[in-house]
Amino acid sequence: MPLTDTTAPGPDDPTDKAGETISVLLPLPVAGPYDYKVPSGMTLQPGDFVHAPLGSREMTGVVWGPAAGDVDEKKLRPVTDRIDTRPLPEELRRFVDWVAAYTLSAPGAVLRMALRSPDALAPPKLVTAYLATTPPEGLRMTPARTRVLDVLRDGPPLTSRDLASEAGVTQGVIKGLADAGALERVELAPPPAFTAPDISRPGMALSDDQAQAATALCHDVEANSFSVTLLDGVTGSGKTEVYFEAVATALVAGRQVLVLLPEIALTPQWLDRFERRFGVAPAVWHSDLGQVRRRKTWRAVADGEARVVVGARSALFLPFPELGLVVVDEEHESAFKQEDGVAYHGRDMAVVRARIADCSIIVASATPSLETRVNVERGRYKAIALPERFGLSALPTIETIDMRDGDLRADRFLSEPLVKALTANIADGEQALLFLNRRGYAPLTLCRTCGHRFACPSCSAWLTEHRFRKRLQCHHCGYEVPIPTNCPSCDNADTLVACGPGVERIAEEVKALLPDARLEIMTSDTMRGPEAAQRLVRSVEDQEIDILIGTQMVAKGHHFPNLTLVGIVDADLGLAGGDLRAAERTYQVLQQVSGRAGRAERPGRVLIQTFQPDHPVMKALATGDRDGFMALETDARRAGAWPPFGRLAAIIVSSRDPRVADDLARALARCAPDGPGVRVLGPAPAPLSLLRGQHRRRLLLKAGLDQQIQGLVRAWISKIKVPSSARVRVDIDPYSFL
Ligand code: ADP
Ligand code: ZN
Repeated sequence: MPLTDTTAPGPDDPTDKAGETISVLLPLPVAGPYDYKVPSGMTLQPGDFVHAPLGSREMTGVVWGPAAGDVDEKKLRPVTDRIDTRPLPEELRRFVDWVAAYTLSAPGAVLRMALRSPDALAPPKLVTAYLATTPPEGLRMTPARTRVLDVLRDGPPLTSRDLASEAGVTQGVIKGLADAGALERVELAPPPAFTAPDISRPGMALSDDQAQAATALCHDVEANSFSVTLLDGVTGSGKTEVYFEAVATALVAGRQVLVLLPEIALTPQWLDRFERRFGVAPAVWHSDLGQVRRRKTWRAVADGEARVVVGARSALFLPFPELGLVVVDEEHESAFKQEDGVAYHGRDMAVVRARIADCSIIVASATPSLETRVNVERGRYKAIALPERFGLSALPTIETIDMRDGDLRADRFLSEPLVKALTANIADGEQALLFLNRRGYAPLTLCRTCGHRFACPSCSAWLTEHRFRKRLQCHHCGYEVPIPTNCPSCDNADTLVACGPGVERIAEEVKALLPDARLEIMTSDTMRGPEAAQRLVRSVEDQEIDILIGTQMVAKGHHFPNLTLVGIVDADLGLAGGDLRAAERTYQVLQQVSGRAGRAERPGRVLIQTFQPDHPVMKALATGDRDGFMALETDARRAGAWPPFGRLAAIIVSSRDPRVADDLARALARCAPDGPGVRVLGPAPAPLSLLRGQHRRRLLLKAGLDQQIQGLVRAWISKIKVPSSARVRVDIDPYSFL
């Protein structure tokens, strides 16, 4: 950020007498607050934005509180100046401190997430508008000039562009009039970036169940105090419509609302529905937002002009002055967990945000996470159920297909029953969805002559073939190479074979079976940007597509009335590996995908291909016994004292030099904390033991609920010296074990 020069005294200026001192938090990845002097004549309050010197640089920071006093006052440098803008709200400052302490991150690293909008603090630029004056003597009049003056006669001042379009003239006419002295130029504040939602519009007529749920949620909002409610409703039960009522109640009370969605669920369809309900689009916040939009939105939230923000987890760090309701939709989604930088869980931190704002929070899901269910059992969260789909639509029937009995060729992945159902569906003019959570054509390519496998040079991972783009790509670091014609190892030509399926390969198989069906692939590779996704969603809605083939991108939120068949190509994919949530997550995503079928009058059918039809996940899906399955999972977690019946912290050691990583991991293991209920597992090579050229080792600290795990980790890490060629990363409540 460019910083303005100021005339404040430098650090050695003798005229600057030692006076008051304060601490300032700078948005730096490693920093806590630093002490500064307050120049005489300046008054500073906590939350004030200031420019302050750091080394030879000048930075923007936030007054955090009184000075810590651990630096000799004579050595302190003064704050340069105070920025004339709204202070950072106290609630957000407390939240920053809380997140930093919980995740064991530097407060400056967390503050950085709250200030992701450079120059949002600068006052907005004024716009030039025109007013009519008494026309000067002898003004030459033309029909165009007359129209301009007519428009301005009874109206407000207008910008040149608006005036030109209303009067039907070119902007040159306006400039001519202004130069002749017939118009006066005035500087106006820019128009608001967001229009307030229309709270007088009625919501949909709700069913009895829905109305009851809405009433309870609205009541919580009106109570104006902290409470957490799980809105537990099957897919298509109308959860969104129901929480919109709570949103309306908060708006009527003059409060702001934050709706968090996992990034992939921030769909145009959701925005359309909001607009239908409230007459305007909400403010949107996510990682792809452009600079201008980002600045405007940050400011509009701070000014209280943006009343509703829908965003990804980073929206938690926006400076709401009057937050009155938080909604976390699809609360079970692991996409809420941030893995890089400050490792935090968006849902859990949303609860903290609401507690600090002393407002209610709704967490909604068709497949609530085990953590949330246990919080309900413990009486910490309330729960409201919507057990039925809205209107005439029924939940789809779900059947498993045992792939062990099949006699499929090695290069075929769709079983006979699924092909039959697909064919019949298309013949009936209905749409189908095939789900496979794997991008590209094939997850592994090998040479049939010498057995050479294509691996990523900087990750322990195979390269995925993307046949349409003719590339082999690493899905962890993005490395890619063209598919060679000869094997790089034995140099034989045309010996490379693709192993296993990705969505592209499924598309190829469907094309061969049903050459007339119109099909489309939906993955993060094919959907570059929200517009592309929107176009595809529209063409499915308009029935220009018969078969949609996709990864988890298709699982979320979409409502396609004519889609009646869902085929799950490889239901077992997510069960591999030792992740403690593998079964729960597989259940959730498959249930979510299944929920895309039969959302209108026509009944839906789901076919699940699996090699493990007796697995509890498959049985629960086929019988619809969600609660039985989750109860089993809960028992297993309780028996093993896994979260939420125990606490976890992952320590990930990484270095370009494998020996450095090993030595450091072993050094950590040697001084690991112990005590009743405390255990350290590892060190072990991470499943992704090489990632982007970094060799990685993991340790896992397990502690009882009565333990303060942050304290244990902090004391532990402080015992060792981390060489400059290595890194130690702490992940409290880890969701990824790779
Ligand atoms: P969920 O989020 O629980 O999956 P949605 O809120 O998406 O459910 O609702 C599913 C579909 O039913 C949507 O198209 C929605 O507009 C419609 N719907 C839900 N409730 C009502 C209602 N009370 N009146 C009319 N349509 C409704
Ligand atoms: Zn890689």
